[in-house]
Formats: sequence, structure tokens, C-alpha cells
Amino acid sequence: MRRPFVAGNWKMHGTRAQIAELIEAVLHGVTGGSSTEIAVCPPFVYLWEVVRLLKASGIGVGSQSVSAEPVGAFTGEVSAIMLKDIGCRYVIVGHSERRAIYKEDDGLVARKFLAAQTQQLTPILCIGETLEQREQGRTLEVVSRQLAAVLDLVSVKAMGNAIIAYEPVWAIGTGKNATPEEAQAVHAQIRAEVAAHDAKIAAGLRILYGGSVKAANAPYIFSMPDVDGGLIGGASLKADEFLKICAAAQVH
Ligand code: PEP
Repeated sequence: MRRPFVAGNWKMHGTRAQIAELIEAVLHGVTGGSSTEIAVCPPFVYLWEVVRLLKASGIGVGSQSVSAEPVGAFTGEVSAIMLKDIGCRYVIVGHSERRAIYKEDDGLVARKFLAAQTQQLTPILCIGETLEQREQGRTLEVVSRQLAAVLDLVSVKAMGNAIIAYEPVWAIGTGKNATPEEAQAVHAQIRAEVAAHDAKIAAGLRILYGGSVKAANAPYIFSMPDVDGGLIGGASLKADEFLKICAAAQVH
């Protein structure tokens, strides 16, 4: 039985005051005893404070990226050692915005995945196709390639401490989500590919869907057998929406 997981990716949003308000509202609304594991991923500069605010709440904190290097002269970078040191538990790697805007390729994403795991942080590996790739019928090929790049660098055992987020690029921030069936088809393929290496690890691997998830569509998407929760962008900035999405994952 896989425990549902919902993570909020706050991207480059918020001020100290707005984040404090958002956290207060989430803490006020979160129901004890929920089976959904929850995490939030604030901008680097607020991580320390968010870890402090969420201490003892059961809600985990993750970063939105990490350096592939452990330490040294890498101006502007933040290492996995630092993230671990301040109490982070998760690291998003391979988000499509990092791949597209900052030109992070499959090899670099794999190295970041490994860097996170070296510090016992749990990577949330984002994979997904662009609209053009989907229209060309290349969705499964693209997702397979992105997954293989990581599996080539780390052993499949590493997937025992990882989460995968299938995020079709055309669905991110567009208001246009994949249908539950479209998501299920890709999630099943991802699980099958991991199962080809290790069936037990694949059975326990949590695969999230991300891309315009809202309170209104979450119950349908999360009802699919291979969808184990969501990576939530825009809707994670509104406490009531985010909490409803967390609740929808619990029913699953
Ligand atoms: C994301 O950025 O990971 C994401 C899924 O964004 P949104 O929910 O806004 O589509």
C-alpha cells in the first residue's frame, strides 16, 4: 500500500509575510490523522524559516532544486549538504522549468538526483513531455528516456527512496490538465519500466501527477490506480485549495 503524497511547489512566489500567512492557514486547516503525506517546497531563501514554522506539524519541506556538486566554488548554488543541514527532506529535480529555462539536461538532472540521495534527501524526479512531443506520439519515449537517464546513473534500489512526478509540460500552469486516463497510461508505463528492473521497488514507488491540479479535478486524477498523489504548483499557494487536494489524495 503506497501512502499518498502531495507536494506544493511554490516556485518563485511569496514574501516572508505571505508565506507565514499561507502556512498558518494550512496548519489551521490540516486534519490530524490524514493518510496523505504533505510537503511544501518554498524558494531557497525561505526554506530555513518554513522548516522552523512547520516543525512538529508532520508537513515536510523540500527545495525546488539542488546543486549537483557537494561543496566548493559554485557561486549561486545550494548543496544537498546545506539542505539536509537545515532540515529539508525532499528535493525537486528535473522540473520542466529548470529543464527548459535553465537548460538542465537529463545527465545533470540525474547527477542532482544522486546528489540529493547522497545526503539521504528524497528526490522528487519530474519527467514529462512537451505538447509537440505528445502530438508527435512520443510521450512514452520521452518519459522513458528521462527515467532511463537516472536509472543509468543510480541503481534501481535508489528508487526505494525517491518519488517520481509525471508532469506533462503542456499541463503546467496552463489550466489544461491531463485526463485521468492519460495520466494513468503514463504512470503505468513508468511503473512497468521500474518493475523491469525490480518489481518490489516498483510496487512501492510513489508516482505523482502534476499539471494544473485543482480541488475540482484532483479526486478524478487521484482515483487512478497508479496515481499516488500530486505535485501542485499554482493551487498550492491557496491554503483552501491545497488542503482540498490533500484531502482528495487521502480518499484514494
Ligand atoms: C508545477 O509547477 O510543478 C505544477 C504542476 O504547476 P501547476 O500546478 O501550476 O500546473
